[in-house]
Order: sequence, then structure tokens, then C-alpha cells
Amino acid sequence: MNIADNLRKLISDTPESVSIIAVSKRKSVEDILQAYKAGQRIFGENRVQELSEKHPQLPEDIEWHMVGHLQTNKVKYIAGFVHMVQSIDSLKLLLSLEREAKKADRIISCLLQIHIAREETKFGFTREEVLEIATSPEVQSLNNVRISGVMGMATFTEDKEQVKSEFRHLRETYNDLKENCFSIRPDFKEISMGMSGDYQIAIEEGSTMVRLGTIIFGERNY
Ligand SMILES: *Cc1c(COP(=O)(O)O)cnc(C)c1O
Repeated sequence: MNIADNLRKLISDTPESVSIIAVSKRKSVEDILQAYKAGQRIFGENRVQELSEKHPQLPEDIEWHMVGHLQTNKVKYIAGFVHMVQSIDSLKLLLSLEREAKKADRIISCLLQIHIAREETKFGFTREEVLEIATSPEVQSLNNVRISGVMGMATFTEDKEQVKSEFRHLRETYNDLKENCFSIRPDFKEISMGMSGDYQIAIEEGSTMVRLGTIIFGERNY
């Protein structure tokens, strides 16, 4: 298992228009450095504590993405350096990110997480909820948060048709939002979908960002 080889193969198989987020949760600083040395600059983590511990040990030019559920009261620990929060699942969290980004004198990108899976446990807005929130005046007037698109996780299943229809639903939700709320915002352009098991389907369905862990770093030990 060689991280650099895995990355090289992925890059050659992935259209240039699709960004690869290397999801390094539960992986060591050494593993992350191997990917960094192979040219990878965008990394994703899903826990605040792990992200805040790794960040100071690694090169400054890494673009860190938070991809896991984020509690409002923990935003302050990452607001000083995080590049993008992909997992905005409530208005409260969005407003907290705005506040903390302002305090840190930064602009932080974010994605609105949409619930597309069958499983009850995955976080995110419904299509109706997200349209309502995105049209609200307080969201349209955010200054320190840049809403850059949507994120979603498909059901963990072998049923490819199911996964495909969930990704399609995410793309349609993105299109609705673009048309109704962000038509004059060129920054609103990302559809983050696809993990190691389903990223090829996601790319076929219009993904612009794939979040890959296992296929780059190998299985995680819990
Ligand atoms: C862990 C994780 C991934 C990567 O999962 P793999 O199946 O290992 O590629 C992607 N997105 C999120 C939100 C994750 O938590």
C-alpha cells in the first residue's frame, strides 16, 4: 500500500475539473505528509479535536476542509485556519461560522449539507429547508462566510441505481439553489459528492469535489 501511487492513479483517472479532497481522519501526520509530498494540498477531517491537533504539525499551505458534523460551540477552534466547512447542517451553525470568521478577520468557504441518503443518521437539510434558509435575508447578507455549493453523502449500499438517484437529487437541489438564490454568485459552484466506494458514480452525476479516504490511505483502524 503506497499513498503516493494511490494518489497518482486517482489523479490520472479523475477529470481535471473535479477536486480531490484527501480525507485523512484517523490517519497519522506521517501518512498525510506522504500525500503532501506527492503533491496533494487539500485535506479533509471530520473531528475538531483531531483537526486542531494535526494542523500545527503540518505545512502551512495545506487547505483544510471540515467534512464532519460540527457543533456550534466548537467552530471557534478551527475558524482561524480552516479553508472550508463542508458540513453546514443548520442555520445556527452557519451564523456561528459567520461570527467566528469575522472575529478571525477571515472569509471561510462553506457548503450546505443536504440529506440525500435513506439512513436516518446522516445530517443535512432537506431540499425544502435549504431553499428556505438560502433565501432568508440574513443568509443572503453574510460577509465572512462564502457559500460555495452543496455536499451530500449517499446511502451505504451495493445498489448502484439507488446511489445514482441520490446523487442526482443532490445535483437537482444544487441547480434549484443556483437558480433561485445564488444566480449572481460565481462562487456558488461546488457539488461535493462521492467517497471511495461511489466516487465514479458521483463524477458521472456531476460531482465537482470527491472526498476520498480509504482509496488513498487504506482502511482506517478504529
Ligand atoms: C470518512 C469520510 C469520507 C471518506 O470516506 P472513504 O469511504 O474512506 O473514502 C468522505 N466524506 C466524509 C464526510 C467522511 O466522513
